[in-house]
Amino acid sequence: MTGPRVRFAPSPTGYFHVGSARTSLFNWLFARQTGGTFVLRIEDTDTERNRDEWHEGIISALRWLGLDFDEGPFLQSALLADHLAAAEALVRAGHLYACDCTREAIDERIKGNDKPGYDGYCRDRKVERSSSAALRFRVPDEGETVVHDIIRGDITFPHDSYEDFIVVKSNGTVLYPLANAVDDRTMRISHVIRGEDLLPTTPKQVMMWVALNNCDGVPPVELPQYAHLPMLVNEQRKKLSKRKDPVAVEHYRDLGYLPDAFVNYLALLGWSPRGDQEMVERATLIEQFRLDDVAHSPAFFDVKKMTHLNGEYIRKLSPEAFIECVDPWVRPWSSSWRPTDYTVAWTQSQFDPALFARVAPLVQERVATLGEVPAMIAFFFLDEPVIDEASFAKSIGGDPLGREMLTRALARFADLEWTASSLHDATSALGEQIGLALRKAQAPLRCAVTGSLVGPPLFESLELLGREKTLARLRAASERATS
Ligand code: GLU
Repeated sequence: MTGPRVRFAPSPTGYFHVGSARTSLFNWLFARQTGGTFVLRIEDTDTERNRDEWHEGIISALRWLGLDFDEGPFLQSALLADHLAAAEALVRAGHLYACDCTREAIDERIKGNDKPGYDGYCRDRKVERSSSAALRFRVPDEGETVVHDIIRGDITFPHDSYEDFIVVKSNGTVLYPLANAVDDRTMRISHVIRGEDLLPTTPKQVMMWVALNNCDGVPPVELPQYAHLPMLVNEQRKKLSKRKDPVAVEHYRDLGYLPDAFVNYLALLGWSPRGDQEMVERATLIEQFRLDDVAHSPAFFDVKKMTHLNGEYIRKLSPEAFIECVDPWVRPWSSSWRPTDYTVAWTQSQFDPALFARVAPLVQERVATLGEVPAMIAFFFLDEPVIDEASFAKSIGGDPLGREMLTRALARFADLEWTASSLHDATSALGEQIGLALRKAQAPLRCAVTGSLVGPPLFESLELLGREKTLARLRAASERATS
């Protein structure tokens, strides 16, 4: 008794696309749900477009997402002998034939034909196999191929809409429809779960598979079931574009999305768990996932929604787990992984881990991605805050009441009990004296001390920063405004 066997079969031709991540997740969920086997097969036969780094990127992204595979990674390039053996069996059984037509000759012949594509010229010419002859698949003249798709139902492809397509090029390269079908067949894949963009090539693979089942000496194998996942679209409901939309999983990892949040969000792209909750644990995803519940309409990859969900995941972390997760952004010098091309504003000696442990819970409440943390806490570690000019002009430089607040706070904070609550009460009282509500009253203080108008809760931050540094920064901002 073996359970279902599924595979994720990416081509290492670029950054790991969110659509691929969703495909791998749905395969993984299905395998884990059914007690099946999840195979990783890297389809690296397009030597012109493949790069080792993309191949490693796939594995590290899967590891980051926590999608463990049970078999593989297999490299398709290493399975060439299987592909060639299958091609020979297909030639012997008459399913493939050699064709030495040049593109120009074909174009010349088919000019004006109703039916575009190859005209079957070499079908019965018995062309010699040679380095100038490709192998074409003899598409049956009549009938149709039906793809049974768990998500889309039965889809019928009439054979007369297919030309005799090439499966082995004259230079010996085995093309995708053959290699993919042979590997799925050899690996006894029971369910092919992949993106909708591959639906048009599916009948070719089914034809290959059926033909192989009809070759002498090749034991028949049951066809897999197919499930073509809905396309991912952007806000304009257009297919996600590699050029215009940020689609690389690595990009989101660099920005500080948590893998659990990312996986949770990807799971909602075309499928939804029971109930209307969006935050769903991995174990629940596994338990509830059903391929037949996947929708066919396109799924909107909504970065805003994902970011919001990520914020919820961040807030749910224990303070210790938060500190550990954010480590690559705050102490990049010591972590084994850090975001691409990343530099942090403070040096190792400026960073104070004990202070950070006290600051962390303040920012944990306020960020939606881990990558937002450094800018929010830099003022704790740098000798001077990095002043955002627009914020300074708005709250201090161009606001006499803001400058007045600085002057009054400097006097009042000098001997105040240094706790968040007395800083809060004192600021509120100072604001009242000059007719400012607390929110307005604290803006110039925040800008003077942190450099910006957004950040962690102010009074808790001042308490942690200490009286001396706070006063020095209030003074510096005051002088800056009048100089
Ligand atoms: N390697 C191909 C791709 O990434 C095929 C994938 C598949 O059949 O699942 O587009």
